[in-house]
Amino acid sequence: MVNRVLIIGLGLIGGSLAKALKKKKFAKIVAGYDRNPDDLQQGLDLGIIDEGFSDLAEVVATADIVVLAVPVKATENVLAAIKPYLSPATVITDVGSTKANVILAAQTVFGTVPDKFIPGHPIAGSEKSGVAAADENLFAKHKIILTPLPESDESATRLIARMWQSTGAEVLQMGVERHDEVLAATSHLPHILAFSLVDTLAKEQDSREIFRYAAGGFRDFTRIAASDPTMWHDVCVANKQEILNQIDNFTDGLATLRQAIVASDSQSMLGIFTRAKSAREHFSKMLTGTAYSQNSHKSQVTFHVHSAAPLLGRIRVPGDKSISHRAVMLGALAEGITHISGFLESEDSLATVQAFRDMGVVIEGPHQGRVKIYGVGLQGLYPPPGPLYLGNSGTSLRLLSGLLAAQAFDSQLLGDNSLSKRPMERVAEPLRKMGASIQTSEGGGAPVVIQGGQQLSAIEYQMPVASAQVKSCLLLAGLYATGQTRIQQPAITRDHTERMLQNFGVQLTIEDDAVTIASGQVLKATSIEIPADISSAAFFIVAAAINPGSDLVIEQVGVNPSRSGVLKILGLMGADLTLENPGMLSGEPVADIHVRYAPLRGITIPDELVSVAIDEFPVIFVAAAAAQGVTCLSGVSELRYKESDRIEAMQEGLLRMGIDVTVKGDNILICGGVLQGAKVSSYDDHRIAMAFAVAGTIANSEVVIEACSHVATSFPEFVDVAQKAGIRINKEET
Ligand code: NAP
Repeated sequence: MVNRVLIIGLGLIGGSLAKALKKKKFAKIVAGYDRNPDDLQQGLDLGIIDEGFSDLAEVVATADIVVLAVPVKATENVLAAIKPYLSPATVITDVGSTKANVILAAQTVFGTVPDKFIPGHPIAGSEKSGVAAADENLFAKHKIILTPLPESDESATRLIARMWQSTGAEVLQMGVERHDEVLAATSHLPHILAFSLVDTLAKEQDSREIFRYAAGGFRDFTRIAASDPTMWHDVCVANKQEILNQIDNFTDGLATLRQAIVASDSQSMLGIFTRAKSAREHFSKMLTGTAYSQNSHKSQVTFHVHSAAPLLGRIRVPGDKSISHRAVMLGALAEGITHISGFLESEDSLATVQAFRDMGVVIEGPHQGRVKIYGVGLQGLYPPPGPLYLGNSGTSLRLLSGLLAAQAFDSQLLGDNSLSKRPMERVAEPLRKMGASIQTSEGGGAPVVIQGGQQLSAIEYQMPVASAQVKSCLLLAGLYATGQTRIQQPAITRDHTERMLQNFGVQLTIEDDAVTIASGQVLKATSIEIPADISSAAFFIVAAAINPGSDLVIEQVGVNPSRSGVLKILGLMGADLTLENPGMLSGEPVADIHVRYAPLRGITIPDELVSVAIDEFPVIFVAAAAAQGVTCLSGVSELRYKESDRIEAMQEGLLRMGIDVTVKGDNILICGGVLQGAKVSSYDDHRIAMAFAVAGTIANSEVVIEACSHVATSFPEFVDVAQKAGIRINKEET
C-alpha cells in the first residue's frame, strides 16, 4: 500500500481522484493541497481527503505520489513551487488534457523531464467544475492515457497505472504527439464546434425564439458547450497546431457538404450521411469495447438446449452469406444503381459493406434485407482512409485481396484473431503470379498488405485445393488483368461468383472443371434477390430429420448444385426430403425444402460430395451421430482451416456427448448412438455452435454450448428461428 498521495488542485478531477483513491484504500493517506482554503475545508468536510494543506513545504517531501490536478497552464508554476521539496523517490503525474506543453513545462523547470514524472490524462470528465462536483465513480470504466517518455522510470509508470486502475479505469499508453493529435480530433474539435455553434446561434436576433424550439438533437450536440471556458481557452492555447489542423479538416468537409447542398447533389449528400452513420455505428461498437483497437468486445454467449418436440410448420432462414458478399462487391464495381433484397444482415456481410463504404462507395441500408448501392465502376474506388477491418469474414478478406491487388492505391486488410490465423497465401501466391505485390503476415495469415499500382496479367491457374474463395479472388483480379484468366479446379466449388458476374452482364467461359474471364468488361447495375442460405437451412433440415414426428418446410432456399451436397448426403442416409415450388432467383435455383422425420443410417460419404457440402460438415457429423451404424468420410482436411479446426471441435464435443468419433489421418468414422447431455465449446465457430444446438435436440439431458457469440457472423436470428421451429433453446449473455 502506498503511504501518502498528494493531490494538488482540489477541483473536479483532483477531488474525484482523491475520493476514488480514498474509497479504494489505494494509499494510507490521501492529502490535498489547494490555494483556496474554502475548497480545502470543503474537501475535508465531504470526506474527500484525509488531510488538507495550504503550504506545499509541509507536505511534498513526505508524498510518494504527487498528482497535479490544476489547469494545464498552471503546470509550470506548480512544478516550480514543489521542486525545492521533492524527494528523489517521489513520483509525479498530472491530469492535463494536453501533453506536449506539460512536457515543456517540466523541461523548463527541471532542465530535463525527471524520470519519475509520468504524464497522464483521464478521458473522463463533466461540464461541472470544482470540488463540490467530485465523483468517486468518474473514472470507472473510462480510459486513462499515460504518455511516459522513453527515459521514464518503468516502475514509476507501473505505480501510476496501478493508481488509476484502482479507480476502475483502464490504462493505455501512447506517445505525447500522438496523444495531442488524437485528442484534438476526438475531444478538442467537438468542444470547439459546440461552443462556436451555440455562440453563433445566440448572436442571432431571435435567439430566444430559436432556443425555445431547440429539440433533443441540439441539446445532445451542444451539451459540452457548458464546459469550463477557462479550461478550454487553455486547451486551445496549449494544443494550438493540432487543433488548427483539425479545424481545417473539418472546414473542408463542411465545404464539401455545403457544395453538395448548393448543387442539390443527392448522391454526395447521401454518401456523406450514410458513411457517417455507418462510421458512427462502427465507433459505437469500438467505444463499448476497447477504444483505439479494432476488436469490438463481445459478450459471452452460451446456448442451453433441451430435447425438442417435433419441428413443425414453415420457417424462413436469412439470405445466403456467400451471395450477399458477392452482390455488394459487384454492385459497388458496377456502373449505375444496384438494388439488393434478401441481403443477410450478419457481421460478416456487413464487414464487406463497411469495406466498400471505406473505399468511397455510397451504400444505403441494409434495411430489412434491402440494400441500394451506387456503383462507382471498375476504376472508381477511392483509397480507404486506413486499414480495412474485416472481422471474422474470410470471404471478404480473400475476395477483396483479388480486387485490391489491381487498384492504383495501397491497402491493408485486417481481421479478428481467428481470421488472422487462416491461410491467405493460397490467394497471395497466384495473385503474385499475376504481377500483384502482396504480403501476408507471419504464418501466411492476415494482416495482408497490398501495394497498388501494379498492372496485372492474366494467368492459367490450377488450384491445388478446391476453394471457391481462391477462384473468386482470381476472377475479380481477372476483371482487371490483361488477357484471359483461366482457373482450373480439382473439384466442384460453389459458383456464386460466376452466376453473380453474369447477372452484372460479364461474359465467362464455363467448362466442367474451369472458368475463364476476359478483362475490359463493364459491369452493369442490376437488381438482385438473394435466396435463403442453405448453410443456415441445413441446421433445421438435420434437426427435423432426426426428431420423430417432425414435418417442417424451409422456404425459398438456394439449392445451387454446387452448394446442395448436404441434401444429397442426407438423402443417401435415408432422410425424407422433398423440394417444392422450384424456381430461380437472380440466376440461382431455389426451392422450399420439405423435411419429415425418418430414421437415418450411417453411410460412406462419396468423395465427390465433399466439396459441395464443405460448410455443412459440422451438422452432417450430428446427423451421423444420430444415425444407425457407422458413417465414414475422408478428404475433409480443409475443415481444419475454417473458423476453427472443425474436425477437432466436433470430435471433442461429440465424444463428450458419448459418441464414438475416430479420426485417423484424413479418415473419419462416426458411430451413431444415444447422445448424452454435456457441456461443449464451439471454439468461437458459428457453425460448430449451431451444429451442437441441433445435437442438443435429441440428447437425453441438457446440452450447454459455450462461446456462441460468433453465431452473429452468419445467422444472428438463429435462436429466434429455432424457437419458432420448436427447438427448446435459450441464449444466456454475460
Ligand atoms: P477545476 O474543477 O476548475 O479544478 C482546477 C483546480 O486547480 C482548482 O482547485 C483550482 O483552484 C486549481 N488551480 C487553478 N489554477 C491554479 C494555479 N495557478 N495554481 C494552483 N492551483 C490552481 O478543473 P478540472 O476540471 O478539475 O481540471 C483540472 C485539470 O484536469 C485540467 O488540467 C484539465 O485539463 C484536466 N482535465 C479536465 C477534464 C474535465 O472534463 N474537466 C477532463 C480531463 C482532464 P481554484 O479553485 O482556486 O481556482
